[in-house]
Amino acid sequence: MKDLQTILDHTRRLVFFGGAGVSTESGIPDFRSADGLYRGEFEGIEPESILSLDYFCLHTESFFRFYRQYMVHPSAVPNAAHRKLAELERADLLRAVVTQNIDGLHRAAGNKRLYEVHGCVNDNVCMECGRHFPLSFIMETDGVPLCPCGGVVKPEVVLYGEPPDKYVVMGALREISSADTLIVAGTSLQVEPAASFIDHFDGKEMVVINRTPISAEDRATLVLRGSVSEVMGALRVP
Ligand code: NAD
Repeated sequence: MKDLQTILDHTRRLVFFGGAGVSTESGIPDFRSADGLYRGEFEGIEPESILSLDYFCLHTESFFRFYRQYMVHPSAVPNAAHRKLAELERADLLRAVVTQNIDGLHRAAGNKRLYEVHGCVNDNVCMECGRHFPLSFIMETDGVPLCPCGGVVKPEVVLYGEPPDKYVVMGALREISSADTLIVAGTSLQVEPAASFIDHFDGKEMVVINRTPISAEDRATLVLRGSVSEVMGALRVP
């Protein structure tokens, strides 16, 4: 912790790259931990298969049953890590949060320089006419949510088999490549292309905060094995 505080005190352009582990302490399960979503099955199918564009198109009703039950957490609120990142942005030290999360908790905490690489559950779009709908529309509909025009309303989340938005990717890479400190936290770095974004980091300090070992530790200048919210929450904003 002392080392991380020292790094932060000497940082001018901080970027935070995070994953599902940033939100587990808000009560949202990740995918690959011992109690993560990938340990179970849903209607006999692995969650990883359900979260694909193919499955969405071929088994839309089943997709939405899974999605409403496991992927949306309307009562979750930002934890100490989200709140500290918002404080660091207000202090103009944090240049950007690049997140793989779809839960919208960074925005809820107040971060604006935000790259949601896999989209967000709060935005939903008709696949026919492009009309946008709030999350409540998805949650209050039974079965497949349909637009008044008849089109299926799809959550703006990136499923396996779909590319991330190119402008979000370009922005995230620009921020990572110009950072002097990069914090990589709460991610197994198993999902591409997002996991490779950190290869574009060319700054001085790469800090890993994760409960389990991850590949980026080879390149890290500091590894903190522990809880993201405890570590981030304890930081003093310089
Ligand atoms: P992952 O489940 O593959 O890995 C999570 C990592 O975080 C693990 O290494 C785990 O040990 C670590 N971790 C869990 N809780 C932690 C904590 N409190 N403190 C420190 N470390 C902790 O998640 P991923 O790498 O983000 O990739 C999976 C994909 O899952 C992402 O693309 C994301 O879109 C999606 N996802 C998002 C959410 C969400 O929006 N909250 C939840 C589940 C999955």
